[in-house]
Amino acid sequence: MTAPRISFEFFPPQSLEASFRLWETVQVLAPMSPEFVSVTYGAGGTTRKLTHEAVGAIKRNYGLNVAAHLTCVDASRAETLEIAEAYAEQGVTEIVALRGDAPKGADRFTAHKDGFASSEELVAALAKTGKFKLRVGAYPERHPDAADDFADVTWLKRKIDAGASSAITQFFFEADTFFRFRDACVKAGITAPIIPGILPIQSWEGTKKFAARCGASVPLRLDEGFAAAKRDGREALLALTQCTTLCTRLIEEGVEDLHFYTLNRPELTRDVVRALGIVPDVALEKVA
Ligand code: FAD
Repeated sequence: MTAPRISFEFFPPQSLEASFRLWETVQVLAPMSPEFVSVTYGAGGTTRKLTHEAVGAIKRNYGLNVAAHLTCVDASRAETLEIAEAYAEQGVTEIVALRGDAPKGADRFTAHKDGFASSEELVAALAKTGKFKLRVGAYPERHPDAADDFADVTWLKRKIDAGASSAITQFFFEADTFFRFRDACVKAGITAPIIPGILPIQSWEGTKKFAARCGASVPLRLDEGFAAAKRDGREALLALTQCTTLCTRLIEEGVEDLHFYTLNRPELTRDVVRALGIVPDVALEKVA
């Protein structure tokens, strides 16, 4: 089995303690030589400044290729393009371009009166600058705003045609969910790489809540498995096995890139990545 290329998602810290956690996460995972790491943009555009600072700090201190997430929420077109320009000035060359979700309190996305109305418009405007490699989100399970079962594929095609060069998926728990989506994309003429988003299960209860918010279906076998593992104190072992098995199945079916949602907790992601045969670029005793 060939080791995959990997990448990691972090979120910007909102407290001093969270800053230490992010820092530790980057420190543990940077030696795994990721292709890129990405930093999220808080729902409703709430972490605009923090995302910018975290992107800059990771880039400066670790020399990693950092992709900044950017959404259309709560900003005019001019403001959004200003944020992108500030990234370009920092030497950031990759953006994960998203529509974003509704801000807290609102139940659906509404475009700012002078803002980008969709991810497709944002991608097109960023592509026009010629300054960025653009990645977009993709949904192997139906997004709540999708008009029908095929809408996420056609919408992804529009984003690629507008200038995105790859997509990162929402997380899922069954490899077949990804394969079905990948096949449908190929059939629709999408040739850009579709990178599976992998969520290592740090806590089963937390993961279920997260899955309900994102529309990821939760297999009964996992619910039963984690309930049994909890009784026996084997949750960490099951989490490692589940994630490694999922990744292995994806790699066996030709997947060459994996994007890990780290939730700023490095240990499980590090262990999965090691189990997949990726050797850290430092002496082992320093990262053990
Ligand atoms: P889009 O492709 O714009 O929309 C999702 C689906 O909705 C489409 O497939 C289509 O079926 C339908 N749809 C949307 N717009 C239209 C339209 N105009 N006409 C018809 N159908 C439409 N959110 C954040 O706030 N910050 C982040 O940092 C962040 N990072 C993310 C990273 C990844 C890899 C992913 C997968 C999601 C991330 N999200 C983030 C969540 C994302 O913002 C939400 O899922 C949002 O609802 C959709 O944004 P999008 O650009 O991915 O999807």
